Amino acid sequence: KAKESGKNQYAFYTDEMGEERIRRIILEHDLRRAIENEQLFILYQPKFNIKTSSIVGVEALTRWQHPTYGYVSPMEFITMAEETNYIMELTEWTLEKAFVQATEWSRMGISLPIAINLSIKFIENKNVKGIFEDMLSKYKLDPSYLEVEITETVMYSNMEQIIQQMNQLRQLGIRVSMDDFGTGYSSISLLNTLPLDTIKLDKTFIDNIDDKNKQVIIGGILSMAEQLNLSVVTEGIETKDEEEILTCLGGYLVQGYYYSKPKNAAGVLKMIREQKGVHL
Ligand code: C2E
Ligand code: MG
Ligand code: MG
Ligand code: MG
Repeated sequence: KAKESGKNQYAFYTDEMGEERIRRIILEHDLRRAIENEQLFILYQPKFNIKTSSIVGVEALTRWQHPTYGYVSPMEFITMAEETNYIMELTEWTLEKAFVQATEWSRMGISLPIAINLSIKFIENKNVKGIFEDMLSKYKLDPSYLEVEITETVMYSNMEQIIQQMNQLRQLGIRVSMDDFGTGYSSISLLNTLPLDTIKLDKTFIDNIDDKNKQVIIGGILSMAEQLNLSVVTEGIETKDEEEILTCLGGYLVQGYYYSKPKNAAGVLKMIREQKGVHL
């Protein structure tokens, strides 16, 4: 098609590159105002225990509704926020929202831990223990209502300091998960290095789960985790078939579109009350 348009192809490509660049500049600029402009909100995606047929927690996932570009994925804006350091403000905002929500649910007698995704950049630059301590006393909330998820990129950073911060969080009673487990280069060695309660097996293990080799690896991770006293939540389950294979391999903590997409707080509450739409 580019050939057909002859000379115009240059104009075409330049325009397109320009548009991408402009989008990035505008989004980076606007992200700094996203909180005060009330464009951010949080959805909660449930995690389930297949054995007990119950919701065992939710993960807070931040969303950005931009006035002209519409929905912007966290895949795009979290990276941006990390590059521009806006992740500090964004994370504290998310934390506050999660604490407010956890408090509301706890008052309703619903004990549903909310997991917050923490960027390594945030952990490296902030006194995480201090922040959680302040929040816990401000909201007078039991630490079992909160959890944190940390991604595997920790390998590339200051390990000592991250380990210390994770230990301090766990001493406060906050459970710590390793997110996207299996996507990094040194997954297994991290199990021996990091103080963890849970690993979240990445969706890539579930994709093509028909593959026998993949099943062997998943089974191995599950039994290894069990002996290390780690829970395993398997991410990204979309079909009944995937669930069947996982349960055959011994997995029973799950999160995925098959059970529930991320929902607003009211949607989660409805789901808890009905325990329907839960294919269990
Ligand atoms: P994550 O923490 O691994 O979150 C899981 C992502 O997979 C979410 O995408 C979720 O909607 C999606 N997902 C869940 N089940 C399924 C499924 O069955 N199929 C498919 N295709 N996808 C599924 P989301 O919400 O777009 O978030 C993407 C990533 O952005 C997250 O990955 C997390 O690393 C990051 N993120 C989101 N919110 C925050 C935040 O507040 N702070 C930080 N630091 N990172 C965040
Ligand atoms: Mg996560
Ligand atoms: Mg994850
Ligand atoms: Mg993932």
